[in-house]
Amino acid sequence: MSIAAWLDLDHCPKERPSVDEMTEETKSLHNAIDDHMRDTGVGYLHPSEKTVQLDLLGTAPMVAWQEGKVELLFGGEACWSELPQVYARYGTESGRALLSRIRSLEGAEAALVCDSGMQASALVFDVLIEPGSHAVMFRQVYNKTEKHLSWLAQRTGAEVTIVDDGDLAGLAAAIRPTTRMVFAETYSNPLMRALDLVRVPNIVAEARAVAPQIKLVVDSTIATPWGFAKPLLESGVDVVIASATKALGGQDRDLGGIIATNNIDLANSAMDLMAMRGGILDWRRAEAILEGLQAAESAHARRCLSANIIAAFLDAHPKVEKVFHPSLPSHPDAAAIAASYVRHGSLLSFRLVAGAEGADGEDAARRFCDALATCKVVRYALSFDGLCSKVNHHKSVSEYFTPREALERSGLSELVRLAVGVEDPHDICAALNWALHEGMLLSDEELSEWRADRKNALGL
Ligand code: PLP
Repeated sequence: MSIAAWLDLDHCPKERPSVDEMTEETKSLHNAIDDHMRDTGVGYLHPSEKTVQLDLLGTAPMVAWQEGKVELLFGGEACWSELPQVYARYGTESGRALLSRIRSLEGAEAALVCDSGMQASALVFDVLIEPGSHAVMFRQVYNKTEKHLSWLAQRTGAEVTIVDDGDLAGLAAAIRPTTRMVFAETYSNPLMRALDLVRVPNIVAEARAVAPQIKLVVDSTIATPWGFAKPLLESGVDVVIASATKALGGQDRDLGGIIATNNIDLANSAMDLMAMRGGILDWRRAEAILEGLQAAESAHARRCLSANIIAAFLDAHPKVEKVFHPSLPSHPDAAAIAASYVRHGSLLSFRLVAGAEGADGEDAARRFCDALATCKVVRYALSFDGLCSKVNHHKSVSEYFTPREALERSGLSELVRLAVGVEDPHDICAALNWALHEGMLLSDEELSEWRADRKNALGL
């Protein structure tokens, strides 16, 4: 029967209109979508791609979803990030698959996947920081994280105390009845300090007597979940956050972030926030990270071993004054590392031996980075834990506006930051050795000529 029979306002045939009788546009779209559903077993509303929402087939599944959410919100057994997909701002099927892997990696009852590492910390801060509350943060946390927490505290009338890394007496003394969070990073960037995973959780646990709402939140981006003898949550950490942009993605390709915790209420609150304001990981990136996770684990292991070789090479080098890497026996947190860490991280920083009297050490560090980049196998770039080795001058990249005296006070002056990639470490050592002996002799004119030629050669 022609579709026209269903268009008479006064009558309608008993049976429903058949898709087969509809126009080619309608028929081919819906048949292709149905075929895709049959292939994937998921109700995606696209002939070949995943979609932000699914075909729910009616109201009942939506009602069941709402009831399931209420149960998870009030039952305390799991976070509602686990619910099946109904709309991508609340979660996707690919995201669910990824968060279940993250849960098992972190030994966590609840996990969230979000669109960047900064989003992960922002969500946790927004849940924990309230007007009148207090947070303690270690000095060497990523500077954007530090800036965000300080900004948030100012806006909400909360307070933040900064404690030097390793100053555990200072940590204990800083905690007050209103302290809701101790925030730390391990390893820290760029000096690669390691959090003591026995003493710090103990201090926080003891402080609960005076600060009952206190949570220990750790950014483990650099150490990674593969870097500890046991999951952080088993060591007494309350919440783990990390940038998946780095080692978990492992290819310098996808931005992402994770939150893992056994505190279901906290996870649910973070999930509520994300549902309201956005920030969840989209399905494409969730899938890309998930597919690459196993390879990311072995690439990280390889980078860490290479970093150990490179750190030892630099540590023995007559033109290098100091190397900061957890594999070195002189590391200030060597005992904590031996007790709780099984990988030493792929990031390291170092300072060159001072030049002639009057030479500017900051300028020398900058020149060294530029010279090393001319070897091509170490790219001048930000970030770490991707495929390529990368170098940058810490002041230019991360502390450009910080006065020299402040940088010196915090031990962050004249630093070269090296992110080790998946190349053969001996090739990287060769480039480093050349840059230390010969590259430093290049003039600014020669360096800018090299950049112009290279740009030309690459068509950039
Ligand atoms: N945490 C650490 C230790 C980082 O180094 C970074 C980024 O460099 C972040 C968090 C933020 O991650 P993202 O760039 O994914 O927002």
